[in-house]
Amino acid sequence: MPVTLKSTVGLIKGTPKSYTEEELKENLATDVIILKVERMRTMDLNRNLKDTEIVKIVCKAKDLPANVELYGCFFKVELYLFPIKQCKNCWAFGHRKEKCWRTTKCRECGENHAGGSCKRKSCINCGGSHDPTDRQCPEKKKQIQINLTMQQEKMTYREARAKWNEQNQYKLLSNEEEFPDITPTLHKRNPTSTQYKTIRGTTKKPDHQLLPSAPQTKVSYADKVKEKAQSQFVENSHKTND
Ligand SMILES: [Zn+2]
Ligand SMILES: [Zn+2]
Ligand SMILES: [Zn+2]
Repeated sequence: MPVTLKSTVGLIKGTPKSYTEEELKENLATDVIILKVERMRTMDLNRNLKDTEIVKIVCKAKDLPANVELYGCFFKVELYLFPIKQCKNCWAFGHRKEKCWRTTKCRECGENHAGGSCKRKSCINCGGSHDPTDRQCPEKKKQIQINLTMQQEKMTYREARAKWNEQNQYKLLSNEEEFPDITPTLHKRNPTSTQYKTIRGTTKKPDHQLLPSAPQTKVSYADKVKEKAQSQFVENSHKTND
C-alpha cells in the first residue's frame, strides 16, 4: 500500500507582492487547512533575491483545492512540482550532497575523483557522452516522470520509482532495435505437417492466408555463403591450373 503523504503543495499565481506571507496565510479562504504560505523568489543579475507574484501553499489535505479566495478574488491552484534531487557529490538522483554517503565522483568522466579538469564526457547515470545534469539524459527524464508521479499520486520517491520500473520493464524489452530481425528465417521455411502440429496443436492444414509460404526468389544467407565458397573454389582451381 502506498504511504499517503499528509500534505500537498500548490501554487497560486498573480498575488500582489504587497501581501506578506502571514497576511496571505490568514486571509486565503478555502475548504482545506493551509499549513504554510511561501512567496517564490528569483535571483536577479546582481544575485539579489526578488519577490515574484507566485505563492506556494502547503495544504493539509490529500488533494489540492481547485481555487482559493483572497479578498473576494479567486485564484486557481496548480500543482507545485518539487525540484528533482540530484547529488552534487556522486551525481546520483534521489538525495542531495549534504546527505551523500558515497565517494566523490567526477562530473565529467564518472570516475572516483573530483571533477573540473577531465576532457572525457561520460554520464555517470547512463554512460552517455553528456553532463549528468543534462535534461536530455534518459535517466534525468525518468527522474522527471518519477517526480511527477510522486506528486500526482501522493507517493514517496521509492513508491514512485517502483511504479515506473514496473510500467517500463516490458517497454524496454519491446524495443525492436534491441533484437535482430527474425522475419527472413520465418519466411524461408515452408511449414511441414509437424510444424503445423507445434504451432496449432493439430495436423490440420492451416489456412493458407494465415501462413503464406515464402517467395521462392529469396536467397538465404546460407545460400550466399555457399555461392561465395563455390566461386572462390572455382577461382582457386583456375589459379592451380595456370
Ligand atoms: Zn551522492
Ligand atoms: Zn574525471
Ligand atoms: Zn545521462
